[in-house]
Amino acid sequence: MRKVSIFGATGSIGQNTIDLIRRAPEAYKVVALTGGANIARLAEDAIALRAEIAVTAYEDRLPDLRAALEGSGVEAAAGQAALIEAAARPADWIMSAIVGAAGLAPGMEALKHGTTLALANKESLVCAGKLLLETAEIHGARLLPVDSEHSAVFQGLVGEDISAVERIIITASGGAFRDWPIEDLANATLAQASSHPNWDMGQRITIDSASMFNKALEVIETREYFGVRPDQIEVLVHPESLVHALVGFNDGAIMAHLGAADMRHAIGYALHWPERQHLPVERLDLARIGQLNFRAPDLARYPALRLAYEVMERGGMMGAVFNAAKEQALDDFIAGRIRFTEMAAVVERVLERFAAESSLIDDAMTLDNVTRVDHLARKQAAQAAEERVG
Ligand code: NAD
Ligand code: MG
Repeated sequence: MRKVSIFGATGSIGQNTIDLIRRAPEAYKVVALTGGANIARLAEDAIALRAEIAVTAYEDRLPDLRAALEGSGVEAAAGQAALIEAAARPADWIMSAIVGAAGLAPGMEALKHGTTLALANKESLVCAGKLLLETAEIHGARLLPVDSEHSAVFQGLVGEDISAVERIIITASGGAFRDWPIEDLANATLAQASSHPNWDMGQRITIDSASMFNKALEVIETREYFGVRPDQIEVLVHPESLVHALVGFNDGAIMAHLGAADMRHAIGYALHWPERQHLPVERLDLARIGQLNFRAPDLARYPALRLAYEVMERGGMMGAVFNAAKEQALDDFIAGRIRFTEMAAVVERVLERFAAESSLIDDAMTLDNVTRVDHLARKQAAQAAEERVG
């Protein structure tokens, strides 16, 4: 039996992971499940999967979690220290599916124990890619990509030499507003930004898909994970979301990865890696689909993409600044404090401020320094939002 833990178990990726594990209960021993405010979901799954421990990120919810788990034999815990302690519990495989920079510390802890980390939490690679990869290497741990595009690239590279790769192309659906007139974007509402044409995902990543901040994070994730240069990474708008990524080699060949828009593909590949096993996902009928469309992204519509290349060029901890400013700007958009289009303006302002104070981002990349930069960038983004830049 493989010992597995799921961080962010109550979210979209977490629930898809649980779906796969539930189909073969005899194959897994569930160690820890973690969640946030949805105590009922967390407790129900922890009981059904006979987890050792369930952890909520929020300390004030501990009494509720205890009550929900009473008599079940599942331990209850809460707060940041409990999350870290859960990540340290021996496991063979941990799903990192907390949303945002909050996923970094538990992920680091898992790697320090040599645990294989299936990484849906792209934000941690954007904030601290070098640190994560070094930690994995020192402790003999493995990082497996779970983002659909990165899983696709990873699969395209099986048996290949990375030095033969000329380009990596990740696709983007274009999000909720891909066909809107640009001048209407400033008036996009939260409800409109929260609906995705092809994927069913958590609210934050859905809004990030509409703004392409998600793709911007993924461009940086590609650089960190595969070690290619920024100029080797391309984004292609592909409205059908069936081709997830393409790898171009030095002989002109391009390997494309296709599959239904179902995250259980990427989760299942990481769960069963290095084997392939049957997955309960739709099989594509290409004759019925008939055509696949591609177009270049319009940088005027998606300024976040341009910012991603600037962040990579700057290097250091600029990724942590970018992610934190983006998370704060997203909070401010969700709370109705700024417009949809002001998110990119806020993030750009924060990047400019940090570029001018370069000592901050050129410090050694440690968890403490990343956390410090993250807090500072959030503060500056909140301030920029108040000043209503853009
Ligand atoms: P979600 O919002 O549905 O779920 C997030 C999970 O994290 C929940 O369990 C929540 O309780 C927990 N959480 C939130 N804030 C937390 C905090 N401060 N501390 C601890 N736990 C916290 O998100 P999701 O869509 O499942 O995305 C999870 C991660 O996977 C993100 O990094 C996202 O970018 C990535 N991802 C998601 C998809 C997708 O299809 N949903 C695809 C690719 C990558
Ligand atoms: Mg993705």
